[in-house]
Amino acid sequence: MSEDGVKICHRCQIELEPTKTDFKYLGHSFFTDILRCPVCGEVYIPEQLVETRMSEVEKMLEDK
Ligand SMILES: [Zn+2]
Repeated sequence: MSEDGVKICHRCQIELEPTKTDFKYLGHSFFTDILRCPVCGEVYIPEQLVETRMSEVEKMLEDK
């Protein structure tokens, strides 16, 4: 585990790169930077990020 946010693909032993990725949730899609391995395409999605984005979408829906 590293403290600086850099993640390594354990399959390829290479640094994951932030990639614009679209999420779909409750019929909404939005883009966010997801760490992805440039070699095998494995993505790392931190639970915290998912929770934050999901609650943003939920809030958006509630405001309507
Ligand atoms: Zn990989």
